[in-house]
Amino acid sequence: CLFCNLLIFSVCCGETGIKTFHDRYIDNGVLDFLLKEREEGRIRNLGWSFHGSVEVFDYLLSLDVKWDFVQIQMNYVDWRHASKRNVNAEYLYGELSKRGIPVVIMEPLLGGRLSKLNDHLVARLKQRRPENSVASWAFRFAGTYPDVLCVLSGMTYMEHLQDNLRTYSPLEPLNDEEKEFLEETAQLMLQFPTIPCNDCKYCMPCPYGLDIPAILVHYNKCVNEGNVPKSSQDENYRRARRAFLIGYDRSVPKLRQASRCTGCDQCSPHCPQRIDIPKELHRIDAYVEQLKQETL
Ligand code: SF4
Ligand code: SF4
Repeated sequence: CLFCNLLIFSVCCGETGIKTFHDRYIDNGVLDFLLKEREEGRIRNLGWSFHGSVEVFDYLLSLDVKWDFVQIQMNYVDWRHASKRNVNAEYLYGELSKRGIPVVIMEPLLGGRLSKLNDHLVARLKQRRPENSVASWAFRFAGTYPDVLCVLSGMTYMEHLQDNLRTYSPLEPLNDEEKEFLEETAQLMLQFPTIPCNDCKYCMPCPYGLDIPAILVHYNKCVNEGNVPKSSQDENYRRARRAFLIGYDRSVPKLRQASRCTGCDQCSPHCPQRIDIPKELHRIDAYVEQLKQETL
């Protein structure tokens, strides 16, 4: 960052863990170079951003290096329920805090999913604090922990900026009972069979033109709104079927829908959530066909 002389490098070493980290940063002298630059004052704060296995995280903390900060994925779902490619934030934060290393938070809203909860969960949060946005709970969670230096939040609209300012000026930290309330909210959220896509688009472009995130986001939206009927005997079957199929065609042009997936699997290795994308797309396509043919 040119403004604060902060240098951050990304540690995402996949399956090969510590060996990949060595190849990328140690054996080629990159880390030595960065440390020298810090010594000479050209870097004021040196740290790393982390996605990966717990072994690599522990290994970096065991090095004889003073880290000025570490960036981790932290929110009230990832606190105790991190997806396969990530580590529970409770552990990551705890280890950093023990060592007095300031924490920078990424994904406080879990890629926006914590601002777009299903209707039951929105009602649950609104009942407690009717005046506050759903997203504000996640921001308060991120800001509550004392070793957090900074919370990174993607903001697209002026309303997002205003909501963030309202939440943090001043911040009202969560009390223990509210933390427990959010943990229960996370557990309820995980009971909905959504696909853990956060719309990051790292899997794009698909060489066959599919709009992968749009397909998964539409599916998740239908799950959250109760529009994924399990059987034609379901009470709301007709309405839900219509909402799913019409919404699908509106959200994803026909040529970019799941039916076009060849299964080449060029996308999955790029997905930080480790979603088996072709498998999910084939599942969604089969479901769409069942809805269309009315064979559910
Ligand atoms: S597996 Fe399907 S979605 Fe993924 S890159 Fe290949 S065609 Fe595209
Ligand atoms: S990379 Fe994974 S999480 Fe990101 S948009 Fe693609 S499927 Fe979703």
